[in-house]
Amino acid sequence: MVRVYFDRDANLDIIKDKVIAVIGYGSQGCAQAQNMRDSGLKVIIGLRPKGESWKRAKDDGFDVYTIPEAARIGDIIFMLVPDMVQPAIYREYIEPNLSEGKVLDFAHGFNIHFKQIVPPKNIDVMMVAPKSPGPRLRETYLSGFGVPALIAVYQDYSGKAKDIALAVAKALGCTRAGVIETTFKDETESDLIGEQTVLVGGLIELIKKGFEVLVECGYPPELAYFEACNEAKLIMDLIYQRGVIGMLKAVSDTAKYGGLTVGPKVIDEHVKENMRKAARDVQSGKFAQEWINEHASGEKTLRDLMKEIEEHPLEKVGAFIRRMSGLEK
Ligand code: NAD
Ligand code: MG
Repeated sequence: MVRVYFDRDANLDIIKDKVIAVIGYGSQGCAQAQNMRDSGLKVIIGLRPKGESWKRAKDDGFDVYTIPEAARIGDIIFMLVPDMVQPAIYREYIEPNLSEGKVLDFAHGFNIHFKQIVPPKNIDVMMVAPKSPGPRLRETYLSGFGVPALIAVYQDYSGKAKDIALAVAKALGCTRAGVIETTFKDETESDLIGEQTVLVGGLIELIKKGFEVLVECGYPPELAYFEACNEAKLIMDLIYQRGVIGMLKAVSDTAKYGGLTVGPKVIDEHVKENMRKAARDVQSGKFAQEWINEHASGEKTLRDLMKEIEEHPLEKVGAFIRRMSGLEK
C-alpha cells in the first residue's frame, strides 16, 4: 500500500513567510490561489497584462503582476498555465528569474517528465496535483474538507522539498482528505494512460459505439441515448459510491447476469491489447511528441476531431434530452 499523508503530517510554518506566485488564473490557478490565501499564506498572481484573467484575479482581491515580475518576487512559483503553453512561458519569463533556492511547483508532471522544461539544479522542483478540477478543489475546501492530491519531488536542492510540497497540499485543503506521494514519471504516465484508455477516450468510444449499435438496430436515438449515455452516469455514481460489487447488488439479477457474461466478450482481450499499445506510446514518449507537434502546428487535428464529435447524432439527441431533463436551457 502507498503511504497516505494527512493534516498532522504537514506543517505550514515552512512556507508561511514565503511569497507564493501563482502563474495563471484558470481552473487550478484560481482555486489554488484562493485556498492558499484562506489558509493564511501570502499569494500573488502572475498574468499576461491584457489577458482575461487579470480582471478576475483583481476582482478576487489579489495583487496581480506580470509573469516575470511575479516570478521575480515569488519564492514558490506555481506553474498553472496550460501544459502546452508552459515551456514558452518558462523560457521567456520564469527561467531568467529563478534565483538559487526558489521552488518551482507543478500540478501535472508533463513538461518536467518529457523534458520540455529543464530547470536549473539550484532550485527545488515539486508537484502538488489535486485529483479534481479547480472548482471542486475550491468547493470542498470551503465546505471544510478537501480533495485528495498527489505530491512528488523531482529536485530537492533545499533538502526540504517534500515538506514544502506537504505544506502546500495542506494549504490547499488536500491533506484533510489524504495525499499520496508519487513521482513525476508515474503521475504523468498514469494520468495520460488513464485519460486515453478509460476516462476521456475509452468512455466516449464506449458510449458512442453503444449508441450507434442501438440506432443501427432500429431503436429511436432518444432511447439509445438513455441506454448508452444517460444511465451510464447512474451506474458510475453507484460504482463511485459503493464499488463494483455495490453497483452489482443494486441492479437487477438480469442486468448482473447479462453484464457479467456479455461484458467481457464486448470489451475483450483485443481491447486490452489496444490499451497496452496506448500505454506503451505514452511510456516511450511517442504520444507526448505527437501532441507537442500537434500543438506547435496549430492543433488542426484536434479542431477537426472536436467538430466531428459535435456533429455526431449522439450530441444532437443529447442536447434534446438534456433540455428535456432540465439540465440545459
Ligand atoms: P486553464 O486552462 O484552466 O487555465 C489557464 C490559465 O492560464 C488562464 O486562465 C490564463 O490565466 C493562463 N493562460 C492561458 N494561456 C496563456 C498563454 N498563452 N500565456 C499566458 N497565460 C496563459 O488551465 P488548468 O486546467 O488550470 O491547468 C493548469 C495546470 O493544472 C496544468 O498543468 C494542468 O495539467 C493541471 N491540472 C489541471 C486540472 C484540471 O482539472 N483542470 C487538474 C489537475 C491538474
Ligand atoms: Mg489528465
